[in-house]
Amino acid sequence: MTYGRHHNNKTFLPLSGAVKLRLPAALLALFAALMILAMGTPAPAYAEGETETAAPVITTQPKNVTVAEGKTAVFPVKAQGEGLKYQWYRQLKDGRWMRLKSESSQTAKLSVKGLAEYSGHVYRCKIKKAGASAVYSNTVKLTVRPSITKQPESLELTEGQKAVFKVTASGTGLKYQWYIKLEGGSWKRSTLSSAKTAKLQLTTKAKHNGAQFRCKVTNSAGNSVTSKAVPLKLTVPKQTNVKLNTGWQYANESAIHSGTAVLYYAQTNRRGIVVGINAGHGTKGGSSVKTWCHPDHSPKVTGGTTAAGETKAYAVSSGMDFRDGTPEAKITLKVALYLKDMLLEEGFDVLMLRTGDDVQLDNVARTVICNNKADCHIAIHYDDDGYSYDKGAYFMSVPNALKSMKPVSANWKKHEALGHALIKGLKNTGYKVWDEGELDMDLTQTSYSTVPSVDIEMGNQCSSHTDSACKKAAKALLAGIKIYFDGK
Ligand SMILES: [Zn+2]
Repeated sequence: MTYGRHHNNKTFLPLSGAVKLRLPAALLALFAALMILAMGTPAPAYAEGETETAAPVITTQPKNVTVAEGKTAVFPVKAQGEGLKYQWYRQLKDGRWMRLKSESSQTAKLSVKGLAEYSGHVYRCKIKKAGASAVYSNTVKLTVRPSITKQPESLELTEGQKAVFKVTASGTGLKYQWYIKLEGGSWKRSTLSSAKTAKLQLTTKAKHNGAQFRCKVTNSAGNSVTSKAVPLKLTVPKQTNVKLNTGWQYANESAIHSGTAVLYYAQTNRRGIVVGINAGHGTKGGSSVKTWCHPDHSPKVTGGTTAAGETKAYAVSSGMDFRDGTPEAKITLKVALYLKDMLLEEGFDVLMLRTGDDVQLDNVARTVICNNKADCHIAIHYDDDGYSYDKGAYFMSVPNALKSMKPVSANWKKHEALGHALIKGLKNTGYKVWDEGELDMDLTQTSYSTVPSVDIEMGNQCSSHTDSACKKAAKALLAGIKIYFDGK
């Protein structure tokens, strides 16, 4: 088969019939080359008067290739015809085509080493047959991305343990970015301090259970690869013991701290909130030792178990007796135990400062443990007010004179917000509340608290303290705690 050259000329020479120009062959070739650069499509030019044999026909065009750094990219082209000659070219930044000289550059299959600096290179193949015009393949692009040589692994840990996700990648000038998808959420870029390294580290919290983690690795060419996503499964212990850590702030102000608090973990509907429940009193020998009333050792501003003006108070006082002789500590514990079960049911974790008749933790120790291990501190008490009737519950608010003392200055608003929420919960459940439900009192507890902290008096020596009355008190407190944390 032969083709006349005019057929091809027409494809790129927009000359009207009126202007019959005969361009010299060299000029035509230059024009063709310019068209190739401008349009990216090869257009063969023919010398005038030539008669052609059939040009090669490309049956399979090469395709863009993305290759991992270090691997070899292969661009195959297939053409029909006999005695075909191949020559691959690479396009330079200025648009010109440079003839390649590698071994494969004169075959139907160009091989290029996957180096980051080659990423973005564009190639095409010129296919020629003796006596025929050459054809050019489509232009194709090489993308070189980093490769992940070791994927991160899924983890199963106990809540609170440190999780470490690691990815190993190879490539040039690698940058890392970890992403996290919490259960039921969407992928988010992690802002943890280790999120831009090959090793993501975090202390696991309840919300991380079921979360997925993956890392995007980008090389100097700006190309990236994303690791597989791996899950984190957190198992939850039933309970752990908590001792006073002598390194904690104010821990050295405690006189009695050989005892152990118990942190109970909700097993379902976990909120990741720890409620510190302090069953008031119940420390043997607590009233034979004294501790400072305030961290700055200033004198008390209100009366109470300890008179105003004193600088030291009983480490733990013995508490009052109900009219029937039942000790206060026994009832505060009963209410606390009911409340613990209700809180766990609602997904709260519960830090119990006292779980039996005696715990060797004084008020300072109980407070410091809550400061470090709980999101709030609620001390349950019944008042010794000498009344002959049950006047109702109230919480002990911070006296104005203490609101500038550290750490009260930074925390008293939180204490009062918690107190008001508890009183609201009590009222909502029909629990009897005294007057406005609060009374200013200078307490060791609130003087040392750095988390929302309240002493709530659930009644007085005349209050009913049957099992059902204690359950009712616990239910009322639960309602208040939910108001505080849920806003309803
Ligand atoms: Zn009390």
